[in-house]
Amino acid sequence: MPKNIQAVRGMSDRLPADQLWFDWILRQFRRKAEVFNFNFIETPTVEFAALFDRSVGKVTDIVEKEMFEVNRLNKSVNVDQTDTDTMVLRPEGTAPIARAYIENGMNSLPQPVMLAYASKMYRYDRPQKGRLREFNQIGIEIIGDRHPINDALAILVAWQVLDSLRLRKFCVLEINTIGDVACKPKITKAVQDYFKQYSKHLCTDCQNRIKTQPLRILDCKNENCQAVVEGAPQLVDLVCPECNSHFQAVLEYLDELDIPYELNPRLVRGLDYYTRTTFEIRLREDERRQNALGGGGRYDELMKILGGKDAPGIGWALGVERIIEALKENKITPPPAINPAVMAIQIGERARKLMIKVVATLAKRGIKVATYLSKDILKSQLKTADKLNVRWALIVGQKEAYDQTVIIRNLEDRSQETVPLEKIDQAIIKRIKK
Ligand code: AMP
Repeated sequence: MPKNIQAVRGMSDRLPADQLWFDWILRQFRRKAEVFNFNFIETPTVEFAALFDRSVGKVTDIVEKEMFEVNRLNKSVNVDQTDTDTMVLRPEGTAPIARAYIENGMNSLPQPVMLAYASKMYRYDRPQKGRLREFNQIGIEIIGDRHPINDALAILVAWQVLDSLRLRKFCVLEINTIGDVACKPKITKAVQDYFKQYSKHLCTDCQNRIKTQPLRILDCKNENCQAVVEGAPQLVDLVCPECNSHFQAVLEYLDELDIPYELNPRLVRGLDYYTRTTFEIRLREDERRQNALGGGGRYDELMKILGGKDAPGIGWALGVERIIEALKENKITPPPAINPAVMAIQIGERARKLMIKVVATLAKRGIKVATYLSKDILKSQLKTADKLNVRWALIVGQKEAYDQTVIIRNLEDRSQETVPLEKIDQAIIKRIKK
């Protein structure tokens, strides 16, 4: 027996039952993005690795450990003679959108440019609960405007998306500021100096981070590190006056909107391109703080880092699979799929030919029909109709096929009526409306 081929580790099938949740989330997100006048964008799944090296940062977890390299099957055959650079499956959405903004001259559009996306992302991490190698993110970006009102607007959209999914009351918004290009070096140095004194007490990863990424130590989950972090200087006290007033303005706008937040002085997020505002949304009871539903922040230097003109931005991403988990944990279910009102039942080949025409007519009118078109036996088809809980059966037997008519049977009171083929859609619509 040949071995069964299985799905690649960390990637899973989304079966019809989960599709209901997925579609609901996407529908609510699309609606919200549209009412706030965001336009949707889709960037390619594959990008050059250099895009993320430069933006997300070379010594971040995503780039250092989790890049999903595209392994061209036969590297010796280079059709274009150009694609010699390493390519990866995109691990996140912001850097590709920034690239697209620059490449497509979006700076000439009225600013800010407001973009939304719903895309698959890839990270070559160790698969575990809430951590897949292929997952879906929904997200928005507001690019080309530095004003703090944009930070509040971005958060408002996320908040309303979660509200429309009835999840908002289970969520906490944590927010922090991490400084900008002017004050980040000074802040980094102050934090570095602090951790140097306690390096012995830190995990090995954090000992290395003292040199490369001292700010990341602040959100290390290791217990020993957390004990050291308790005494670390708070970023909000170290940022420059401009960053501070930006942050205070964001908080004031959130107050105006009645969006509750918790200040988390340790929230730095794992990506290099963030400046000023950073935030995360997590479930209130997720004390381990490991599985945030989403997060985001401001990235005022990103365009310049990627070689574009200066264009500040703010955005966030929410993980769709984590939202589905959260919905299930909190017993929130999406609206059920619309059950077909009608089932097509045919007996014999002649009837089948007529029935496929009936189905075509009904589908054209947008009427959902359950079909088992290869079947021929009335009794078993009626049983299926019963299981499906449909109200109306359309039955075509030999006689009806010959007469070009269809029996409409009410499966509740068992009454029935025969209608000519050309009137079937009207007859069904009339009944469904009732
Ligand atoms: P990040 O881009 O790391 O800030 O992630 C934003 C959100 O995407 C997270 O809060 C998760 O909801 C989701 N996410 C990130 N990585 C994964 C993963 N490996 N598997 C599933 N969801 C993820």
